[in-house]
Amino acid sequence: MQTSSETLFARAQQLLPGGVNSPVRAFRAVGGTPFFVERGEGPYLFDIDGRRYIDYVCAYGPLVLGHTPPSVAAALQEAVARGWSYGAPNPLEVELAELITAALPSVEQVRFVNSGTEATMSALRLARAATGRPGVIKFDGCYHGHADAFLVSAGSGVATLGLPDSPGVPASAVQHTSSVPFNDLGAVEAAFARAPGAIAAVIVEPAVGNAGVLLPEPGFLAGLRAVTRREGALLIFDEVMTGFRVAYGGAQARYGVVPDLTCLGKIIGGGLPVGAYGGRSDLMQQIAPAGPVYQAGTLSGNPLAMAAGIATLQALQAPGTYATLEQRSATLAAGLAAAAQRYGIPATINRAGSMFSLFFHPGPVRTFAEAKASDADRFRHFHRRMLDHGVFLAPSAYEAAFLSLAHDDAVVAATVQAAEAALKA
Ligand SMILES: *Cc1c(COP(=O)(O)O)cnc(C)c1O
Repeated sequence: MQTSSETLFARAQQLLPGGVNSPVRAFRAVGGTPFFVERGEGPYLFDIDGRRYIDYVCAYGPLVLGHTPPSVAAALQEAVARGWSYGAPNPLEVELAELITAALPSVEQVRFVNSGTEATMSALRLARAATGRPGVIKFDGCYHGHADAFLVSAGSGVATLGLPDSPGVPASAVQHTSSVPFNDLGAVEAAFARAPGAIAAVIVEPAVGNAGVLLPEPGFLAGLRAVTRREGALLIFDEVMTGFRVAYGGAQARYGVVPDLTCLGKIIGGGLPVGAYGGRSDLMQQIAPAGPVYQAGTLSGNPLAMAAGIATLQALQAPGTYATLEQRSATLAAGLAAAAQRYGIPATINRAGSMFSLFFHPGPVRTFAEAKASDADRFRHFHRRMLDHGVFLAPSAYEAAFLSLAHDDAVVAATVQAAEAALKA
């Protein structure tokens, strides 16, 4: 008997908690059985049951070129032939660092790690060391990986106020963390006032992707820059999702606000496990072995991951890539909005370049609270029907959708057609 996703998921649930290695993949928010992937190609995923899906998950962001782009595949094959882990410096680390520092002028030096989670927890350690202060202000619905200090009102996977989102996170681990509403500068001022001289950093997803997509209102990011500077705190942009996504230079280029530290991941590894954090040299020089702030990694700077990242960024440098992503994403968003309107369904689309969310909410959706007020039942139904019509959206209303350069005009048109069918009662 041939293995199906159904039988494989039953086996997986015996062996892996919830049958998966990252919670959202289990489809709990939408119901049903997740499909098991046989392979990815361009804009498509193929499951082991023989179905094809247009993929808007794109590995939750990294695959900005689509699946198995030939240039990245070639770079990986070339790298594999030379061995895949050295525990000694390799030239690709320097090359990727040069590409990143050239793309983000605020990043003078960078340290590679293995995930976005490692990047944000290490950036916070550095901010605390550099300022000699313990406090951090984050925003409701922003996700900064699963380190203890950030698991307060942490968006997509988890959700509260001043209380840890997960058992196993002691109150002491989040006692220095304040979470306030996104787009609310007054709340940021109040959080500073509550902890005078004690805030090391404000950390923010400059365009939020983990509460669904929330866009910064005009002046919000500049306001964060001004208040952190005035208070002697650092501004950390968590660009793990937005870096090389909303512009080649990330959200800091798109919105014109310069942070002290930047966290990266996802696209800079081209789909392999990578994270990075970087910023001003005077700050980064405090990281070991240049300075006393300890942070290390057995597999950090892994040559395969570096090779995939370099090939991905080089492909993104081709003229017109971001204009193309912007135009196709705008076409898709307009098509989805028109379909919802035709059937009288309240819907709001928030989009930053090639990442977007369709909220079943009349709008505007500017905060996590507003995102959570959207119609969850309708999302579940829509998600199921889109799968039936061959389109894979993330199985959560609070995850962004991503286009890749492999999503051409025909794929976009097919998606709009599927949405028309899925939204029709
Ligand atoms: C994905 C993500 C992370 C966590 O990265 P992992 O590689 O999953 O640990 C952190 N911050 C943001 C903004 C993300 O989107």
